[in-house]
Amino acid sequence: MVGGGAVATRRLPALLAAGADVHVVSPELTPALHAYVESGRITWTARRFEPADVAGAWLIQVAVDDVEAAEQISVEADKSGTFCVRADDRHAATAWTPAVARRDDITVAVTDSGDRRRAMAVRDAISTALETATAEAADIKGTVALVGSGPGDPELITVKGRRLLALADVVVADRLVPGMLLDELREDVELVDASKIPYGPSVAQEEINRVLVDRARAGKFVVRLKGGDPFVFGRGGEEVVACTRAGVPVLVVPGVTSSIAAPALAGIPVTHRGVAHEFTVVSGHVPPESELSLVDWSALARARGTLVILMGLKNLPKIAERLVADGKSAGTPAAVVQEGSTSTQRVLRSTLGEVAGAVAEAGIRPPAVVVLGDVVNELG
Ligand code: SAH
Repeated sequence: MVGGGAVATRRLPALLAAGADVHVVSPELTPALHAYVESGRITWTARRFEPADVAGAWLIQVAVDDVEAAEQISVEADKSGTFCVRADDRHAATAWTPAVARRDDITVAVTDSGDRRRAMAVRDAISTALETATAEAADIKGTVALVGSGPGDPELITVKGRRLLALADVVVADRLVPGMLLDELREDVELVDASKIPYGPSVAQEEINRVLVDRARAGKFVVRLKGGDPFVFGRGGEEVVACTRAGVPVLVVPGVTSSIAAPALAGIPVTHRGVAHEFTVVSGHVPPESELSLVDWSALARARGTLVILMGLKNLPKIAERLVADGKSAGTPAAVVQEGSTSTQRVLRSTLGEVAGAVAEAGIRPPAVVVLGDVVNELG
């Protein structure tokens, strides 16, 4: 690789992913390339190109701005019969970087003779076809994927989550899952609405587990779509255990959790330099005095960091009272974010001492997160 600027930085990851041993010749490197050198993933000679540099190379990537220098490298490469990719002038090159589609162990490379955009369009079409072909391949069938849907905005699902959702034969969805994602499903997909399973909470979970295992055993690809992140108060762990016990392979696709995203979209960073070096996410679904509570509220009252409370609206009066009684200042800034990331998002700002009353007065409803700490007012 000759050159250590933006072009080299962009090209390097694909070369490394292909298993290349990369040596860079350049007087200077971008910070990103420096990091590769420091971690030992590439080697570097800190000077301008010299003809002897082509010796031993199998491919030369020209990534310099200077046309004359690029031309000189091309000439030397040609003399030694080494393929040469020219980032600056594809017609002067003897090799091209193709547009690539990868899925599992299949790689399709599309080259063109001048119309890069067309090659990319063809690559995208092949990529889509590969996804469908993967779905039909046996290895995904009989599997359960636990996918986090994000906090509500359908665009906040991960790329992987969305891809797997498009491949699903069966989707088991929670109440808090963005409706628009379900709207996109193929007609033949079986949609199981987990929130409509008509039993008490623990029996309902058993029934969900049963459905997951049953459909997977029937050879279906099952996506268990859960609000936010599957392992943040989502009972995702129990579903993994149930599938594993039944011998059903399960994979987990993390999601954007409302505990961080809802504050973020209300302009509240859960950490901020010089303000909060920690944030704690707790569930408020059990009142503090209950013997079922696993939360150490006294410790949280002493902690200086940001406190994010999920499922805490109903018990907010008691939680706030307890935190103040245990020493947290009643003046601690507080915010409540209802339906964060959706078009109906509402934000209420208050203080710990007054937040419970303010929530009742404003008619804030679940799902909502409560944020306590100085970060609440940090961005103004
Ligand atoms: N696994 C989810 C949380 C499930 S518990 C996640 O990682 O986000 C359900 C609680 O999450 C709700 O009671 C509420 O406190 C919070 N919540 C979920 N979606 C929310 C949203 N869009 N806005 C605010 N709070 C949300």
